[in-house]
Parts: sequence; structure tokens; C-alpha cells
Amino acid sequence: AVRYESDGGVTGGQVGLLSWSASSGGGSGSGSLEHRVVICMSCKVGIRPGDGVQLHFWRIHRLKGEVMRQILDYSYTAEPIANPQAVPVPADGSPFVQQLPIVDGLSCSDCRFLTTSRKLIRVHRSQSGHDSTWKEVRLQSLSRGSRARYSVVEQVQGSIGPDGTTSLRSTASGSPQRLLADCLARYEESLAAELEETRRIEIAGQDQTSSQPGFARWAGRDT
Ligand SMILES: [Zn+2]
Ligand SMILES: [Zn+2]
Repeated sequence: AVRYESDGGVTGGQVGLLSWSASSGGGSGSGSLEHRVVICMSCKVGIRPGDGVQLHFWRIHRLKGEVMRQILDYSYTAEPIANPQAVPVPADGSPFVQQLPIVDGLSCSDCRFLTTSRKLIRVHRSQSGHDSTWKEVRLQSLSRGSRARYSVVEQVQGSIGPDGTTSLRSTASGSPQRLLADCLARYEESLAAELEETRRIEIAGQDQTSSQPGFARWAGRDT
């Protein structure tokens, strides 16, 4: 399960901390017992450590001075914190995290391919030969835009029917969470473009070939 820890008031609620156990068989070899990610409470998104904190709160929220200092102090105190775009995601089936958006998504029944796009899961099936049916799932991610890396969360009462398979109503009508997520996704995409240069440096050398290809992006789900 993912634990949430508030800032205890030291940044006025701008940031929080999510942490979850590192799986022992993970093979990432980081050696740490848990993964920790600082999140922006208003964007509901993970923040990269180091200059990512300053970039986010300056460029998106125009914070500076004392508030910025408090946030930076908090992020140093919270170390070691991980890059939300690279950290192993929480185990599938974990309870959902209130501090992150929940989106309706699709999971391949033959592997861990996760996407929010019906088109992409069809492409995956034809390319991989995984031709059993897909499952409708609920997903959360610490990042958005092209860097979204999903994990499946426990089903939440609401937009998915009791059989869990037939009533993804919010695809058409839009659940509150989904509308929020759409809004935030667009917001974050503009940020993503802005920060692309920094990210390119950060992600150099990182494994980009997980079971969630980079094209499983939020923006692609309805195309
Ligand atoms: Zn923010
Ligand atoms: Zn598959």
C-alpha cells in the first residue's frame, strides 16, 4: 500500500510525500527499502527531486521567496526522494491513493500492458499476439503526459459496474475524477513541453522499455 504523509504544515500544504515498499524481487538494485516521491498537492503529480522542485513551483505556481524556501527545505528533508518518472510503480492492486487522480484504463489479460486508450490496446494485441480479451481497470500514475506510468488500483465504488467489465460509463459521460484528470492532463502536458529539455537530461540512460511503452499516454486515449 502507498502511504501518504502531509507536510505537517511546513509548506502550507503545497507538497506531500508518498511512499511504498520496494519489492524485494524488483531487480532494480537500488538497495532502498521504500520508494519516496514528493507530490504537488494542487497538481496531484509527482515532482522530480533536485531542480525539478524549484522548476515546478516556479513555473506552474509562480511561487518564490519564503514559500519556495519552505518547499525546498521540505524536499531536502524528505530525501532520499525518487524521480516519479523512473521509480518502480506501486504494486498492482494496491488501494488507490487519494492524493492522485484515478483514471479508467485497460489492461491486457496476457501481460501487464496498461493504457487509457482503446486504440492502443488494440494495437498492442495485434502487435504482440496477445489476443485474449482486455480488462477494464482503474489506473493511477505519478506522472502525466508522455511520462505516465500506470499501476492498477483497487476498484473504487462508482463508475465501474459490479461485474467490473461492462459499464465503463465514464468513457462517454465523464466521471468527476476523469474530468479532473483530463483537465490536469492537459495542464501537465504544457508543463511537460516546458520541461522537456531538463527531462531529456534526466532520462538519458534510464530504461524506457518497460511493459508500459511511452506511447501509452493520456492524450492518446481517445484517438
Ligand atoms: Zn503543482
Ligand atoms: Zn499483452
